[in-house]
Order: sequence, then structure tokens, then C-alpha cells
Amino acid sequence: MRFEAFAVENIPLIKKGDDIAQIICERTDILDGDIIVIASTIVGKAEGRIFSLEGIVAGAEAVEFSKHTRFAPEFIQAVLERSKECLISSPVLLVEMRTGHICINAGIDESNVEGEMLLELPANPDASAEYIGKRIESSTGTQVSVIITDTNGRAFKLGQTGVAVGVYLIHPLKDWRGQNDLFGKELKITEEAVVDEIAGAANLLMGEGNGGCPVVIIRGLNLRSQEQTTVKEMYRSDEEDLIKKSLKYLRDRV
Ligand code: GDP
Ligand code: MN
Ligand code: MN
Repeated sequence: MRFEAFAVENIPLIKKGDDIAQIICERTDILDGDIIVIASTIVGKAEGRIFSLEGIVAGAEAVEFSKHTRFAPEFIQAVLERSKECLISSPVLLVEMRTGHICINAGIDESNVEGEMLLELPANPDASAEYIGKRIESSTGTQVSVIITDTNGRAFKLGQTGVAVGVYLIHPLKDWRGQNDLFGKELKITEEAVVDEIAGAANLLMGEGNGGCPVVIIRGLNLRSQEQTTVKEMYRSDEEDLIKKSLKYLRDRV
């Protein structure tokens, strides 16, 4: 058992309108079954999702929250405008986005963006993954999967890791339920978050700094789906999510 992960080299600084699929295909050979892992940063740049705080007017809630964080009211306003719900407002903002993704500061980044500009996540990362995936497939004649990643922290542990925020033709979860363990006992709960595991592996090559390495190919895992997939398959519903429920309880108690 073996799989391979390698970075696509010499990717330029990405700007609005760039054709990421073409940029990848020009720089590496793609094979059937490859999983193309792409940092959301360059997808956002190509989609023109760069903005500045100038011109943003902070509302009352943003002004109030800013008193308990190190962020400017205008930045908090930008976060709130991209959020469905704010779960924690101090000392950082943990929000649920309209896509269902829960993360700090609505995924708005200032790193690896020029000057004072900020970068937001693609509006619909599944759609971005599909768009890029289909273009790679039609220009190479291969069948691939795509995972768009971001770097996120997680509860309970220090350290950030790559996570999937959008997918094309790969199921986020591998269902082990109904299979047996080594001793013949049936597995009752386990669903393996394969796209987050792959995002974490790819992130080892991407890094977080000036590596200039936003695309990683994963080869040798047989995970391509025949039917449409969405990253939403792995978000817990409001009813099922105990942590989300507790956070809302604490938030609304005061
Ligand atoms: P995020 O995890 O999606 O927020 O992206 P990061 O900011 O952590 O960047 C991931 C990798 O992509 C790092 O190696 C960055 O240096 C690289 N990167 C970011 N933007 C660009 C770009 O426009 N061009 C290239 N070649 N690399 C980039
Ligand atoms: Mn990011
Ligand atoms: Mn990162």
C-alpha cells in the first residue's frame, strides 16, 4: 500500500481571472484517479475575492465585538457580513458561514496577499472545485478529483491543519460502518474524514509561508466518486452538533 504526494512547481502569483486548471496542466502530467489539492488562497485570488477594509462601515454589533477582540470594527463587520451565525465573539470570532463551514474570522486571510488587502474564501468552494476539475479533465482527457483546502485550527488541540472546504468527485467521508475489525466485531460509528486527511497531507508540502506551493497532486488513492459529491456531507446538522449547541447556549445565556 502506497500513495504519492507531490507539489506542482513554478506556479506564479495568482491574480484575478487566472485559469488555475490551465496553469496546473501546463506544469505537470495528470493521470486518471489523481486528486488535485488546491489551496483556497489561489482559488480566491483567481476569483477576485480580494478586498480592503476601506469603505466598510461597521454596524453596532461589529463595534461592540471589537471592544473584546484585537480586530478593527470594520474587519469584524466584514467577518459578520460573510457569516450565517457568530458562535464565539471574543477574543476571536468563530462563525458559521453560509456554506456551513465553521471557522475563525470567516476564513478571511491577510497572509500571502499583497499590501493591506484581505482575501476571502470562494463563495461556493464545491462549485470552484467542480469548475477547475472539469477543465482539467477536458484538457487532459483524464478523470480526476479536486479538493480545495484551507488551514484551520480545531477545538481542543493546539496547531492548525489543512482541511477541505470544497470537493469535486470525492466523498468527504469513507463509511466503515458495517465492516469488521480485526476480531470480527462490527464497526458501528466510524466514518473516516478522508478529504481532511488528504488536505492535511497536502498541507505538509504547501506550508503556510512563502513556499509558493499552492497545488499538490495525490496519486495512488482509489477514491474518485462516480456521482456528485459535496463538502456539506461532512457538516453536522444543528440538531446533531453538540458543540455548536453548547456554544449557542453559552452565547445566549447572557
Ligand atoms: P490557505 O491555507 O489556503 O489559506 O493558503 P496559504 O496562505 O497557507 O498558502 C498555501 C501555499 O500557497 C503556501 O505555500 C503559499 O506560499 C502558497 N501561495 C499562496 N498564494 C500563492 C500564489 O498566488 N502563487 C503561488 N505560487 N503560491 C501561493
Ligand atoms: Mn486561509
Ligand atoms: Mn495555509
